[in-house]
Amino acid sequence: DSSSGSSGFFSKGAFPGRVPAGIGRKRLRVVVTGGAGFVGSHLVDKLISRGDEVIVIDNFFTGRKDNLVHLFGNPRFELIRHDVVEPILLEVDQIYHLACPASPVHYKYNPTNVMGTLNMLGLAKRVGARFLLTSTSEVYGDPLEHPQKETYWGNVNPIGERSCYDEGKRTAETLAMDYHRGADVEVRIARIFNTYGPRMCLDDGRVVSNFVAQAIRKQPMTVYGDGKQTRSFQYVSDLVDGLVALMEGEHVGPFNLGNPGEFTMLELAEVVKETIDSSATIEFRPNTADDPHKRKPDISKAKELLNWEPKIYLREGLPLMVNDFRNRILNGDEGKGL
Ligand code: NAD
Ligand code: UDP
Ligand code: UDP
Repeated sequence: DSSSGSSGFFSKGAFPGRVPAGIGRKRLRVVVTGGAGFVGSHLVDKLISRGDEVIVIDNFFTGRKDNLVHLFGNPRFELIRHDVVEPILLEVDQIYHLACPASPVHYKYNPTNVMGTLNMLGLAKRVGARFLLTSTSEVYGDPLEHPQKETYWGNVNPIGERSCYDEGKRTAETLAMDYHRGADVEVRIARIFNTYGPRMCLDDGRVVSNFVAQAIRKQPMTVYGDGKQTRSFQYVSDLVDGLVALMEGEHVGPFNLGNPGEFTMLELAEVVKETIDSSATIEFRPNTADDPHKRKPDISKAKELLNWEPKIYLREGLPLMVNDFRNRILNGDEGKGL
């Protein structure tokens, strides 16, 4: 078993008595904060399927037990109801830190990005675990550089309505780098661009979930502003592959993880219409303040250093979330926690 030698991080923080999970690799104990959420639950599925032990920490603020219920009873899976704003003691090898009120309607509510990140970094420092932060393209604010490279410092309004999220994540990145430089914590930083797929919150106001739910309910799709603002939409399995590649690789980052295909909101509405209901209509609504005009990742760094790039086009990915949304809407599940 080559992983039990002195080579790199698999020996660091690994605990005695662990059963090997395949040739040359120890079974890892991995924490996923926010693991009951949209991205987190897909990540947990991948980690469990490759043989790791997974501990989810979630306070069910936006996450749902339903997203993980298929894993209940699996001896390698544990779910802890806990708010990461409070300290916690665990013995683990890797921490994927996703916990965050992640959408405009939720993210104003608590200091998770600062206090939660600090606690998880403190935990990583104490046990020698590798720590991955899921930061966001929002750190670029309303970008003056297009597409955005990781070297761009961003254009963020520190006192705007979105700043709690943008600046919270910027602070989280700062904390991660301070623990990396000052306490030698092995850190990885992902800057995630808009991601969609099954298990997305139905009611958190993001554009893909809004349009898909509206089209299924035969309501008009609500386009904010003139609908000419752009975003790039990544399918969730591509993101999960990128997060794991980043965690397992040797580079701190930050790395943009997103799909470079760029769409206006009007184009997105058109794709949803083609996918779900050719009679779907749109309705214009006033836009929110500080809405970024355009956003598109430059992913050359992740391509080169992580050997990662997204594989799923919007027209392939959208149909993959429709069944899940249809079922949840039919069952009257509006995406609230349990
Ligand atoms: P989500 O809302 O589905 O998941 C977030 C999870 O964190 C939820 O399960 C929620 O209950 C949990 N949580 C929130 N505050 C917590 C706290 N204080 N303690 C414990 N758990 C807490 O959102 P998501 O889309 O899965 O996002 C996951 C991560 O990816 C977030 O950090 C988000 O900022 C980042 N991200 C997501 C996107 C995207 O498009 N989905 C884009 C950029 C960044
Ligand atoms: N922390 C935690 N679990 C641990 C270790 C630390 O939740 O296993 C928290 C700790 O309570 C503190 C934060 O992480 O609030 C930062 O810890 P660190 O040791 O870096 O800072 P200090 O406690 O020395 O200020
Ligand atoms: N948007 C929209 N209709 C909606 C929800 C959002 O036109 O029902 C727009 C919003 O103004 C923004 C874009 O879609 O320009 C993406 O919004 P979202 O909140 O999904 O992501 P973010 O702004 O964080 O990229």
